[in-house]
Amino acid sequence: MTFPASPKSSASSTSSLSNPSKLSNDKDSSKSSNFLRQIIEKDLAEDLYAKRRWGGSPGDAAHHAAGELDSAKIRLRFPPEPNGYLHIGHAKSICLNFGLARDYGGVCHLRFDDTNPEKEDTEYVDSIIDAVHWLGFDWAQAGNSQAYQASDYFDFMYRAAQYLISSGQAYVDEQSAEEMRQNRGDFSRPGIDSPYRNRTPEENLARFEEMRAGALADGAAVLRAKIDMASPNINLRDPAIYRIRRATHHNTGDKWCIYPMYTFAHPIEDALEQITHSICTLEFEDQRPFYDWLLDCLATGGLIASPHPRQYEFARLNLTYVLTSKRKLAQLVNEKRVSGWDDPRMPTIVGLRRRGYTPDALHLFAERIGVAKGDSWIDYSTLEGSLRDTLDPIVPRAMAVLEPLKLVLDNWDEVMGHGVLDDCSAPVHPHNPEQGKRHFDIGKEVWIERSDFEETPAKGFFRLFPGNKVRLKYAHVIECTGCEKNAEGEIIAVHANLVADTKSGTPGADSAKVKGVITWVNVSSALAAQVRLYERLFVQEHPEAGTDNFLDNLNPDSLRVVEGYVEPSLAGIAAGQRFQFERHGYFVTDLHDHGDEKIVFNRITSMKDSWVK
Ligand code: ATP
Ligand code: MG
Repeated sequence: MTFPASPKSSASSTSSLSNPSKLSNDKDSSKSSNFLRQIIEKDLAEDLYAKRRWGGSPGDAAHHAAGELDSAKIRLRFPPEPNGYLHIGHAKSICLNFGLARDYGGVCHLRFDDTNPEKEDTEYVDSIIDAVHWLGFDWAQAGNSQAYQASDYFDFMYRAAQYLISSGQAYVDEQSAEEMRQNRGDFSRPGIDSPYRNRTPEENLARFEEMRAGALADGAAVLRAKIDMASPNINLRDPAIYRIRRATHHNTGDKWCIYPMYTFAHPIEDALEQITHSICTLEFEDQRPFYDWLLDCLATGGLIASPHPRQYEFARLNLTYVLTSKRKLAQLVNEKRVSGWDDPRMPTIVGLRRRGYTPDALHLFAERIGVAKGDSWIDYSTLEGSLRDTLDPIVPRAMAVLEPLKLVLDNWDEVMGHGVLDDCSAPVHPHNPEQGKRHFDIGKEVWIERSDFEETPAKGFFRLFPGNKVRLKYAHVIECTGCEKNAEGEIIAVHANLVADTKSGTPGADSAKVKGVITWVNVSSALAAQVRLYERLFVQEHPEAGTDNFLDNLNPDSLRVVEGYVEPSLAGIAAGQRFQFERHGYFVTDLHDHGDEKIVFNRITSMKDSWVK
């Protein structure tokens, strides 16, 4: 596995329309405090970490003692397991950890938590690197790339285990898995000591060495910390810290046939990297006593630097209508319920990005949801709101017709002249005149939205119906005369007449009073576009509610593809360009399906939240 040598070598693909660091800095003053900020501020005020040394790379107590005073005031880490693509929950964690490091003069390490040999893949490593960069963060500091992999610490972990054994704090247990489970007890029953619990350190050391040498079969023994089989916290009832598993590891190959358990590995990874604040999600709260027990032991033994890291827990992100479990997202991909990890309906960072989300929108979202100590659900509209609030002030406007119906202006030739095309213009952005104007023409035939015509109008319908006048936005007022139908009775065209001297922006244009304004594109110059209309992937607010198979709650209408038209000013646009299609919402040219004769747009989100309960 290789990491980019410097931040510059990995081109940031941050959208040209956005600048996350700028947004974050601008918002610094308004940044709301939270319990983690308070902890860090208190620790800094008390100089808790001021004397820490940093050996220039991760290492044991001696390594760091030989280093300089750490120029990083705090050290945090983002520790993904490279077993899938990152999702919106990870984006929260990335913004939190890297954001705190940035705000308090610290650094945040990117650490691949790859101690489990079975599920990991370099494809995921690359996508994680990409996702963190795309969000606008980096892990380099003073020419030092702070990207680490936990499997590089296997040697130290083995040494730490040997230390625990020799100090009488760990033993090799050869009970069967079933016996171990039974003897662990439960909430109402204390555990029962293993018959192997009182082996001498010498016996244990020898046996552990045999485990390592491959003398025992997979599962035949585990190394357990020797703590307290009667502890009310079941995690302290002699937890397993090493297991035998003959598996080829993507980094260490076949060097090891024993692997550390996550609960043992993680605190050690933090300690070797001199992490000060190890921020994790609430489900690890019950593990904190073991985290401290282990690091206290290793600090006492002089193996790791002091003060050792501390763990703090925050509530993971739960987002309505969204699944945030790599395993379940993998299932959607493997069962082809979506087109891949980057399907625009996926809450993965690659999916959100292809959908048209910007780093700015995700930063604002992370800021708005904050961090809490208790679990809750965040409403999906908070995510979409963050998107609209970041896109609205910057993205260009355009007109598009998504469900086209032809409108014929029957008196065009008389009023404007045969074959004449009339030039119309509109601001690229209504509040930013410096973004300039866009131009598009109008002729005898234009595409309008099918829903903008009603033969017999419902009450309150102010758009096109026979006898009514509306304005074609940025162009003329027209008066509807009727429609044409095919043999099946379907409307195939609408007819209207131009009202002379009403063109927008010309003197007297406002004298014709109309209640409706409709968007349109000119038939002869419109660009054909495929538009993918995305909806939420799940119909249930809590995707796993009311079923033991979350697939039952998939929204069958989460993707609708329409063939529409967009204004000619969009000719030649690049992939990944965002627009607000007037009246319709926010759209982006697809990152993958781009460059053919037809433009493909993804709907990022509609203008307003249409899922209001
Ligand atoms: P999953 O359950 O989806 O596999 P995970 O927690 O196992 O997620 P990791 O790769 O171990 O995934 O997570 C890396 C970091 O991201 C961890 O520090 C974890 O706390 C954080 N994280 C994962 N999911 C969320 C979430 N929904 N909200 C906030 N942080 C999260
Ligand atoms: Mg995990």
